[in-house]
Amino acid sequence: ADDVTLDPWGSSTVSDYRKLFEQFGIEEFDHLLPDVPNPHYLMRRGVIFGHRDYGPVARAMREGDDFAALSGFMPTGDPHIGHKLVFDEIIWHQEQGGDAYGLIADLEAHAARGLTWDEIDEHARNYIVSLLALGFDPEAGTLYRQSDNREVQDLAFELGAKANASELGAIYGFDGETDVSHMQSVVTQMADILYPQLDEPKPTVIPVGPDQDPHVRLARDLAARMRFFKVTEAYFSQELDADERALVAQAYDAREAFAEDPETPRCEEAGEWLTEYDAEVEAVADARDSAVEKLDNAGMEPLRPRVRFLNRDATDEAFEALVEAIDGEKRRYENHVDSFDLSAEDAEELAREVEVDNGGYGFVAPSSIYHRFMTGLTGGKMSSSIPASHISLLDDPEEGYDKVKSATTGGRSTAEEQRELGGKADECPVYELYAYLLAGDDDEFAEKVYDECVGGERLCGDCKEQAATLMEEFLEEHQEKRAEVEEYIDELDISFDS
Ligand code: SF4
Repeated sequence: ADDVTLDPWGSSTVSDYRKLFEQFGIEEFDHLLPDVPNPHYLMRRGVIFGHRDYGPVARAMREGDDFAALSGFMPTGDPHIGHKLVFDEIIWHQEQGGDAYGLIADLEAHAARGLTWDEIDEHARNYIVSLLALGFDPEAGTLYRQSDNREVQDLAFELGAKANASELGAIYGFDGETDVSHMQSVVTQMADILYPQLDEPKPTVIPVGPDQDPHVRLARDLAARMRFFKVTEAYFSQELDADERALVAQAYDAREAFAEDPETPRCEEAGEWLTEYDAEVEAVADARDSAVEKLDNAGMEPLRPRVRFLNRDATDEAFEALVEAIDGEKRRYENHVDSFDLSAEDAEELAREVEVDNGGYGFVAPSSIYHRFMTGLTGGKMSSSIPASHISLLDDPEEGYDKVKSATTGGRSTAEEQRELGGKADECPVYELYAYLLAGDDDEFAEKVYDECVGGERLCGDCKEQAATLMEEFLEEHQEKRAEVEEYIDELDISFDS
């Protein structure tokens, strides 16, 4: 019962985020915060609490390299303020220079949730209008729906060849009764995640709630399975210069000629040379395979790409270092390998170039960031199916005001007690509204609310009045912007008619 379960289609809440770090290897975002240029307020305030391999995205941002951000929305209801977190994350990455993608997971909504196409069309439109109203730039970014995107579907088909039913069963709990369309929607989602890299590999971040982590892990796995296609050949082709490559090509031709006419002396020589060359390729490949096996057995799979790039002379030395590292600590191994090998980043970069040159995809394993779920206004989880628990981005501003006014708080039972002991801002859905949304970029304001609350200077009645007013203003402004978007949305390259 201690285990956290992550189910993308379930209603599980994640009560203890720390467990995710231990159980699933999600890393704490705080450690990475200093590496992120102009971090978003959701990052600064710890609402974005975890990540998987976000380092390459932060690095690309710092160095002005290409990167992408993508999120899919399953159009099962109205977009609410919980979804706004993801909209904001996508828009922020776009503002930082990333290629931004917003997609409607209509195939998934139909297959996994059984929505009709009419329902899907209506909700899809509402999601996209809000995303645009919050600042997504449709000229610079990409919007699409799964069912309209042929490239995504083709990629899904390719990825499907690398996964099987029992694996999906283990990850998602699918069984013999699971319908095929649901499985297909999973590979479609994998294709969505890798889609930004179809033309060119690049770090890509998927902002999600932690319940979506199984998708991220599978996508990272599949990205790796699509990689290192013919790695030995790729490795050698990058190691040889153009003359040598030409020689290898000639030698292969000559060997064929030799098979036809063994009398030709030049062909014989080339044939011998080639046999030696082949043996060498094979020996290095064997050494690498066994190094890789040892790494896997020692649970050090992330270091695999480096093994691929050990040069021929270094293989023995590297091998010793590996064995040592497997017995000893990882750090020493990393230093050791770095001293005679390419840096991990350069090796990765080279691997991708070689792979793309050789007709492969060269996918970079996608990264993810995880945000906390918003608490429902009535306590418990914020849920699309319980109207009082959430504020829809389509709610009438006055209704939004009223919902905040009747929200549960972290206040004490009497004003006197509150003044004496202070409120429990950490358990208060109203405080969350300030931190996640109402304070916007203004950290000082968010801190002031917090300090005044826990210091007993702030009482819930006034606090809710202020929050309710801000919410009403936010909804008014958002809906005005939605109306502006409605004027041009039909000209965009996304359709809401299935
Ligand atoms: Fe929540 Fe505000 Fe009350 Fe503090 S004062 S418990 S933040 S409603």
